[in-house]
Amino acid sequence: MSDLFWILYRIVFGALFGLLIGSFLNVCIYRLPRHETIVRGHSYCPGCHHELTGADLVPIFSYLFLRGRCRYCAQPISPRYARIESVTGVIFALPAGFWGGGPFAPAADKPAWLAILPDPGYNALVIVGVLAAFCALLVWAMILFDEQLPPRALYGFILVPALLRLALQPDRILLHLAGAAFAAAVWWLLETLRLLPEIDRSRRRHVFFGLALLGLTGGLIALQPVMAAMLVASVLALLAKKPEHASRLVHLLLPAAVLASAVLWLFL
Ligand SMILES: [Zn+2]
Repeated sequence: MSDLFWILYRIVFGALFGLLIGSFLNVCIYRLPRHETIVRGHSYCPGCHHELTGADLVPIFSYLFLRGRCRYCAQPISPRYARIESVTGVIFALPAGFWGGGPFAPAADKPAWLAILPDPGYNALVIVGVLAAFCALLVWAMILFDEQLPPRALYGFILVPALLRLALQPDRILLHLAGAAFAAAVWWLLETLRLLPEIDRSRRRHVFFGLALLGLTGGLIALQPVMAAMLVASVLALLAKKPEHASRLVHLLLPAAVLASAVLWLFL
């Protein structure tokens, strides 16, 4: 079999795995702020509360076959579920396609003390760590987008894989600490200058922590889209006639920034 076959095989496998993870992220985004468990319990339609079966839960395909409506009550299903699934599918397909080669070779950074670990195992650990952190960051961004509060435990799910990555790639520690400090400093500055749109106080702290962790996970390079998003948000907040519109915009920019960072990280 040719190399191309294996690359396609890995892309398809990565995408399918990503779709399943995306489906789980949807569950987290919906249930975590409502203090519901994510490990047990069936999914149900938020409209009619009918329990969903396996056929209703196939990522993307169920949405397409049911034409975006609940099988039981025919109420439209938000296209957002399918979007989160597709985006996660793409984020997982990219490193799967480039596994161990191309522009994507974390093993180049392997520190001496990890020499005993074979390159494929090392690559896999780095990739799993970063994908886990970005998944948790996506959940964080979407919960804030929904104008809900993320549970504190979620920050552990961002911090632990981010620290795992830095333990595996110690050369990057300074860049990533700088990323976290820079994100925190810009947020603090915008807040002090009162350039931030009206977001209520409790949510502000969550935006602050999440941005600092995004900086820690992605480093200075992956932080660029976040910084750009924050500046755009504060300019729009100044221009917006209604403060709630500006606040909505900030919330929209958070998931966009997380995704842009994840993609940048994969290629830089
Ligand atoms: Zn329904």
